[in-house]
Amino acid sequence: MLYVEEKKYKIDDNTDILLMALYLSKFDMSGVLELKYSNRNEAFIRISQIFGINSNTLRMHRDEFDVLTESNRKGWRNREPRREVKDIYSRYGNLDIRQFTEIIINVLHRAELRKIKIREELLSEKVYIEDTNLILESVEKRRHYSKSPKPVGRKVKTDNYTYYRDATIAAVALCNANYCCEIDETHKGFIRKTNGKNYTEPHHLIPISYQDEFKNSLDVENNIVSLCSNCHNKLHYGRDIVNDLKFLYDKRKDLLKLAGIDIAFEKLLEMYTK
Ligand SMILES: [Zn+2]
Ligand SMILES: [Zn+2]
Repeated sequence: MLYVEEKKYKIDDNTDILLMALYLSKFDMSGVLELKYSNRNEAFIRISQIFGINSNTLRMHRDEFDVLTESNRKGWRNREPRREVKDIYSRYGNLDIRQFTEIIINVLHRAELRKIKIREELLSEKVYIEDTNLILESVEKRRHYSKSPKPVGRKVKTDNYTYYRDATIAAVALCNANYCCEIDETHKGFIRKTNGKNYTEPHHLIPISYQDEFKNSLDVENNIVSLCSNCHNKLHYGRDIVNDLKFLYDKRKDLLKLAGIDIAFEKLLEMYTK
């Protein structure tokens, strides 16, 4: 059954992008030079990359401000700006280029940090999947889910701090699932070299990066699902994931409670769509 329309949960996290768009609309070429780009095109390409959005999306937002900043471009001249666009303009529209550039440098810095965080999580998950692979043979007799909350584990230092993920727990979680994909047991992968079983990957249903929001450990079998490579990548990179996520959530919510982890589905979905 369809859970809800995906759109309803899109988070309005684009204040920074709108600030950037206002800056580009208001200061145009002076702003571009202020940010050390040599021309508009370069600025739009590089800035969009930092935000992880399409450069046309950034241009479109810039055009939305043109009617307010009375720039010389045509833009959306005859259209009524959206409420959030007017709101940003009323708060920041009268800053001078020096004050605004200072804000924009911070905005770009924040966006870059978000990107670094995502990249680190992906890299560390690859290492963790490889560690799980090496340990799988030894956990055959350890099949179990945690029956009580577990204290939060140690933080390990990378470029940033991140919580340690125990590959043994992941291996047990795969074993618990009989090495099947928990989205659909009929998803067939291939036979794993190390233990001769169907290949699946461990995935923390509640991402470990949210550990600070929980008093008990997220690194427990109860929070780790076994997924075929395709479903795993879909959860990380796919667009229409609401139904799969809801399915996994319903399957795990009681086990999560047992491990002292309480979360509403809406909150979980937010973590995946941010
Ligand atoms: Zn994952
Ligand atoms: Zn699958």
